[in-house]
Amino acid sequence: MSSGALLHGRQANRRYARRPVDLYEYQGKELFRRAGIPVSEGRLATTPEEAREAAEELGGPVVVKAQVLTGGRGKAGGIKLAATADEAEERAKEILGLDIRGHVVRKLWIESASDIAKEYYLSLTFDRGAKRLLYMFTTQGGVDIEQVAEESPEALVRLHVSPLEGFHPWQARSLVYGAGVTDPSEQKQIAAIVGKLHEAFVTNDAMLCEINPLIVTPDGVVKALDSKFTVDDNALYRHPEIAEMRDLDAADPLEALAREKGVTYVKLDGEVGVLGNGAGLSMSTVDVVTFAGGRPANFCDLGGGGDAQGVVDALSVITKDTQVKAIFFNIFGGITRCDEVARGILQALGEMSLELPIVVRLDGTNAEEGRRILAEAAPSNLHVSPTMLEAAKTAVGLAA
Ligand code: GDP
Ligand code: MN
Repeated sequence: MSSGALLHGRQANRRYARRPVDLYEYQGKELFRRAGIPVSEGRLATTPEEAREAAEELGGPVVVKAQVLTGGRGKAGGIKLAATADEAEERAKEILGLDIRGHVVRKLWIESASDIAKEYYLSLTFDRGAKRLLYMFTTQGGVDIEQVAEESPEALVRLHVSPLEGFHPWQARSLVYGAGVTDPSEQKQIAAIVGKLHEAFVTNDAMLCEINPLIVTPDGVVKALDSKFTVDDNALYRHPEIAEMRDLDAADPLEALAREKGVTYVKLDGEVGVLGNGAGLSMSTVDVVTFAGGRPANFCDLGGGGDAQGVVDALSVITKDTQVKAIFFNIFGGITRCDEVARGILQALGEMSLELPIVVRLDGTNAEEGRRILAEAAPSNLHVSPTMLEAAKTAVGLAA
């Protein structure tokens, strides 16, 4: 990682998170699902009617689960089984608005109910003292893990994973055998989940992934029934999607606006509004502004397209931030051609009144034509530059 990215990480930390990002159960389960960890099918609901519809869609008995960023929901009455859609609606009425240790329930996760034969526990987190990742696994799941650690420490198997050597499949087997799982099918399924949990942890820059309970159904299927997923806020800039998962209520109003418009945007603390096409280039754009001595005002990814509406939407979000003094528009034409993007920018500028200076770096496919189009028709506040660093310096200078 460049020093710019590091600097930016710290800045991001200061501005909008200040703490690790705890994901809701349903969000953590989505990340589990993507990593190939089995979870039940479910739907999000914010009203009793939506809960009923969700239950109808899922068919069969469901479990209605309060989505709050605190544990022990079951004991607090935030998790209830419902045999029918009618019942799901009733349970939803009871749970919505409930105060669970200061967290008022506004969202419900309606999930196909599981039959439970066994409840296990599996987690992966940092052991900072050992400078390694730490797995914990026990067949005594479903309850407070602290209680297991205290009352029957021998039942809790711990295993370190070196960040340098990475994860090895034998480590999963050692966990599973160590905890005394004897059924071969269970052993195999759990070992696979252990490996996938490592993948989910690393690819999402997690700080904690906990599955409690990890259940075995009467048919012998192992799956994650709950999820606790915490992501390192310093790594959020490289996971715009997870940045978007943060609680809407807690999020910045600009980010809420961006979400409405379908713009990938993360608010930062500087003066140079940046946008790029593609997540990687957008991140580099943030870095290069820092490198040029400026402070990025945001992360914004235009995505693959350079159509006028996308540009208008992105610019309208970026310029709502009153701290922004200049805009750096960083485009590398690949499949999207620079001449198309140039036309998109001109059309966008024609549709909105933008007084701030804007520096456009165009490179890649049809870059020369794109620059020519801008040079001929652009308003005086638009500057064109062929290289990223030069463009960044110009934008930083204009913002000062
Ligand atoms: P927590 O209390 O916040 O940790 O929420 P969990 O998601 O872990 O659920 C608490 C408990 O509710 C679990 O340990 C289960 O015993 C029970 N539970 C949750 N989902 C189901 C389900 O699909 N079927 C059954 N039978 N019980 C469930
Ligand atoms: Mn749980």
